[in-house]
Amino acid sequence: MAYTVRECERCLAHEGIPGVRIDEGGTCSICKSFDREWGNWPERKEGRRRALEQMFADCRKKNRPYDVLVPLSGGKDSTYVLYLCRKEFDLRCLAVTWDQGFLTDHARRNIERTVEVLGVDHIFYGISKPLLMQLYRSFFLKTGFFCPVCMRGIAVATEMAAAAFKVPLVVTGTSRRTEEYVSPEFFMAGQIGFFRNVLAGDPLLQAARQLLYTGDWKRKVAYHLFWWTGIERVFHSAAINMPDYLDWDYDRIFATIQNELGWMSHRPDEEHSDCSVDNIVDYVRQCKFPALQPELLRYSKLATAGLLRKEDARDKLRANGRGDAAPANLDGFCRSLGITEAEFREAMKNPLRHMRYRPQPSRAWNMLRVLKRALLNPVLRRLR
Ligand SMILES: [Zn+2]
Repeated sequence: MAYTVRECERCLAHEGIPGVRIDEGGTCSICKSFDREWGNWPERKEGRRRALEQMFADCRKKNRPYDVLVPLSGGKDSTYVLYLCRKEFDLRCLAVTWDQGFLTDHARRNIERTVEVLGVDHIFYGISKPLLMQLYRSFFLKTGFFCPVCMRGIAVATEMAAAAFKVPLVVTGTSRRTEEYVSPEFFMAGQIGFFRNVLAGDPLLQAARQLLYTGDWKRKVAYHLFWWTGIERVFHSAAINMPDYLDWDYDRIFATIQNELGWMSHRPDEEHSDCSVDNIVDYVRQCKFPALQPELLRYSKLATAGLLRKEDARDKLRANGRGDAAPANLDGFCRSLGITEAEFREAMKNPLRHMRYRPQPSRAWNMLRVLKRALLNPVLRRLR
């Protein structure tokens, strides 16, 4: 009997992807959660823009050295965020770039040109390269992932710069509407708990303690208030994703940053042009989960968001998918981390080996969330 994996009617997601379910009507869980959060975007967007302008007004009133901090990776989203903050909203901006050790020359040039053309102050932060590579190596061998180290670095660089210059608002280019679906089975970010658990008992944890910085207490309290109360005003400090507040149209984004900032891309749809090993991330994922064809989730989400028709998404995947051959830069990558090809293959086995390092939310925390939903949310809704 032939067994077929069902695919969503609207996007390219299918049941072979960890965490994806398809309902009776043929719609996948990714599309459904998109509709819950963003389905009414055309009606909401005016209000969202007003909320953003109000937050920027709050920042200006504080009269601190900078109104906003923009983590600048050299990719298209963060470049556009910095452009909007400076040019459209006329804010005093500080940009910060974390050097993850695999920054492309191309991204470096884009970053230099962007801060020069916009005339904004900029910090480059990186830890010693040998230490960084040891961290990547250790993470990769233990968990089969190396991105968490980079993402921890972004968080630390951002938080250190924001605290040092008392910047009231961090504005990122993370676009939850169009960003690909991720699930803990095949993606881990740089959460502090995961980072600590992986390095527990390893002298590297002490050597890399600068990456354990999570910000000063005032900022932490303010961040939690901002999210928990849902009142989008900047009282002390906050962090937001700009695409949650504005239309995020890639044709317009590319045209703007190319024409106004001289930004250069290898390919118009290049997702992580700031990272020279992003193709290895895709390759590793596909080795672990053969059903996860590289770039499938990326194009699929554009179909979910209504930015591409499903069949156009499939055509793009066919035209731009990297296939399953080992990437040409794999040898160089292994050399940078000081691992052999056999060790690389070994780390691909048991794709869920990282799950045991995931911090579990405590019972008390879960209870607080339930209480908040039941008691606090109704009150806050009336206050807003
Ligand atoms: Zn779908």
